[in-house]
Amino acid sequence: MLRVYNVLNVRTGKVLDAEELLKRMPEQEKHKLRAEQLGPKIRNYACPVCDQKVYLSGKGKAEGKIYHFRHFPNLGECPLKEGNNISKEDLKKIIYNGAKESERHMKLKTWMGDFLRSLKPKGEFTESKIETRITSSEGKKHWRQPDVSCVYKGKPLVFEFQLNNTFVEVIQGREEFYANEHTYICWLFDGFNSYDTAFGQRDIFWLNKSNAFAITEETMRLSEEKGDLLIECHYTDPVIDGTAVKNRWVARILSFSELNLNESYYKPFYFDSDSAREKLELKLLVEEFENYICGGRKEINYKEQRKKDGSFLSKLKIHLQNESIPNEITDSFINIIDALYFLKTGKVENLNHNFNNIKQFTNQIIQYYPQHGYIYCKAVKEYHPDFKSEQLGDKLKKKVNDFWKEFKIAEKEGKPNSQDKSYDSILKLLFPELEKYLAELAKEKTFVFVQ
Ligand SMILES: [Zn+2]
Repeated sequence: MLRVYNVLNVRTGKVLDAEELLKRMPEQEKHKLRAEQLGPKIRNYACPVCDQKVYLSGKGKAEGKIYHFRHFPNLGECPLKEGNNISKEDLKKIIYNGAKESERHMKLKTWMGDFLRSLKPKGEFTESKIETRITSSEGKKHWRQPDVSCVYKGKPLVFEFQLNNTFVEVIQGREEFYANEHTYICWLFDGFNSYDTAFGQRDIFWLNKSNAFAITEETMRLSEEKGDLLIECHYTDPVIDGTAVKNRWVARILSFSELNLNESYYKPFYFDSDSAREKLELKLLVEEFENYICGGRKEINYKEQRKKDGSFLSKLKIHLQNESIPNEITDSFINIIDALYFLKTGKVENLNHNFNNIKQFTNQIIQYYPQHGYIYCKAVKEYHPDFKSEQLGDKLKKKVNDFWKEFKIAEKEGKPNSQDKSYDSILKLLFPELEKYLAELAKEKTFVFVQ
């Protein structure tokens, strides 16, 4: 539905009944408004739900004329426009609350604008303005009117107070708009309680690395006292609880200068809960995978193995987006895992083989799986620095020496694939101590022709 029954006067911030407004508006003014709509000039009325400008349409002759405000059909989403199932009741609540709470809203943005202006001599916040329109660089058709706008350390920044339950489309629309304009948007709540969050708040903080910011009477007082913008920051600090990652809420008052303003992510944040959670989830997965590979896997039949292998590999693939993960777990992979696990832990009870010393493993890898010989030998060096090659016996020592000779020739001849690198990303996860050797190997591949 394109028609808008209530409009926001963007100058005053007041929500008006469209019918009443039009009844009072002289016909000439209506047509001036309509004429302006054709040009690039910014108009005075917007939809109170989505913030987008509306236009005055009309039909009929003389006394029978009908005018109404309508959304532009192609100017972005609005829950009203999409005909979402919003009951009249809910809609009234949004608009009515908007009007009722506007005093508080006005108070907050005025405080913010004035306070930032008072910080101007310090040089961090400049050009602070309350309710000034920001017009899109793509054209004057698109604009937003943030509560407070400023330039922070050279970066354009807007503050939006979120006092009502704003629709997700509106939130997204604003965030997209500002990201397009390379402008940072910081949502501020009028207080925040992590145990009792409104839907609109959740639409904001879950998509901001689980960071929620609030202004309270206390932060306003402290800000004025310290001459620095302080805000209340709430974020989730994920923790491992048994075999799952759980969210733990943390709240603290901090200076705005402690927030991260990352290039290309146009929302300030304090703690990146998303990547913290991702790290913990990966840690759990790696532990589970290790228990499986060096343990449970040998207890199940081939068919079950294939199924479980695939499930682990696809989970790893999701976590290691930029790295290549092989499609299957091969015998050769199991062999190198067994060997490295033994070298690292000295434990033999969970292995897939019955070997129990370095000599046996060395023979196994160098003889049958030389494609893992490089990392195997480096792992011996890493985990058993005192191990002497003499301990291998003459015959095996010669095999190892021959392996290295061939390895070096292969590298020189530009055949870096003499070593199997397809499991490197998994090996790095299971044996982080070996990452440096894997990196060296990867590098040799690049520089081999230079030698
Ligand atoms: Zn709308």
